Amino acid sequence: MTIEKRKYQICNNCVMDTSDSNITFNNKGICEYCENFYKNILPNWDTGENGHEILMKKIDKIKSDGKNKKHDCLIGISGGVDSSYLTYIAKEKLNLRPLIFHVDGGWNTQIASNNIEKLVDHLKLDLHTEVINWPEMRDLQLSFFKAQVNTLDTPQDHAFFASLYNFASKYSFKYILTGANFSTECVREPLEWNYHTSDLSQLKDIHNKFGKIKLETFPQADILKYKIYYRFVRGVRVVTPLNYIPYKKDEAINLLSKKFGWQKYAYKHHESRFTKFYESYWLPKKFGFDKRRNQLSSLILTEQMQRDEALHIMSKSAYDQQIIDEDFEFIANKLDISISELQELFHGKNKTFKDYKNKMLLLTLGTRVMRLFGENRIIR
Ligand SMILES: [Zn+2]
Repeated sequence: MTIEKRKYQICNNCVMDTSDSNITFNNKGICEYCENFYKNILPNWDTGENGHEILMKKIDKIKSDGKNKKHDCLIGISGGVDSSYLTYIAKEKLNLRPLIFHVDGGWNTQIASNNIEKLVDHLKLDLHTEVINWPEMRDLQLSFFKAQVNTLDTPQDHAFFASLYNFASKYSFKYILTGANFSTECVREPLEWNYHTSDLSQLKDIHNKFGKIKLETFPQADILKYKIYYRFVRGVRVVTPLNYIPYKKDEAINLLSKKFGWQKYAYKHHESRFTKFYESYWLPKKFGFDKRRNQLSSLILTEQMQRDEALHIMSKSAYDQQIIDEDFEFIANKLDISISELQELFHGKNKTFKDYKNKMLLLTLGTRVMRLFGENRIIR
């Protein structure tokens, strides 16, 4: 079946385009992500006095709820800029006593490990690292490659979030602080580019079809467990401090570099060697989805980048041709397959999340209900 391509169109305000096949534009050529930002996010986003006041109320509550505990909150850290900056703010500016939680899925770059170590040492924080069983991770990761879906980072993301939430619930942490923020993420990845990583039915179906070994220790938590059980039964709250304070990516990177010798990455999410390969090569070349689009569009909308500069960046390829062969070899070796097998997978017929079990219907309904209550202002 050939899918009829719609006429190419790019938003006049950001750099989102018809590579999101469901994108809609208004009669001025402005996309739905921009409209959502100006209509729903911006009017409710206050990083001034009001925002500060709201944040401090939350922080006071975290402190009073945790006053007899060794740590009053949990922070998941990847080594990337958002979670690193959040860690600094939480300790130095908000005087919290966080436990820093890191998941080692087997793909960390040396830079990411160094960044985490430097932050934790300088700020005298406690770090808990959860190491994912590599044979299981490898088997699951390879299953996603074989399934020909575009969500190859799901095993990594699922492990990260499931570990974090399961840990919070097990050790009765009431608060998880995350680096999620409008400043660098107000334009979310279209659903087509990144189906929900926490839909366990999809993960299990893909693994059942293509996996070779049992997932015995791989951390699992279904989206309904996050949204309902953990939140309403276990009382785990997620707080996003970066949404209440002025947060500019370049300034955050400068501060982290100066204070801690933190090193930056070429692009967002390149703290993982796998994600770098996947987002800069596999996804754009095989599926035509380039996640720099939504990341740069976020920076345009939050006035951290001019559209011309973003267009210029988008005109160059995201990966480095010189090292792509090296990357192919590295990924194939890690997955324990040959380079030609990996290339064969690359040329296989693309599929989507709809080709496997999924909870999409339920999630769409859930999102609609949440919107009625004013939640989920970001389009998903
Ligand atoms: Zn736009």
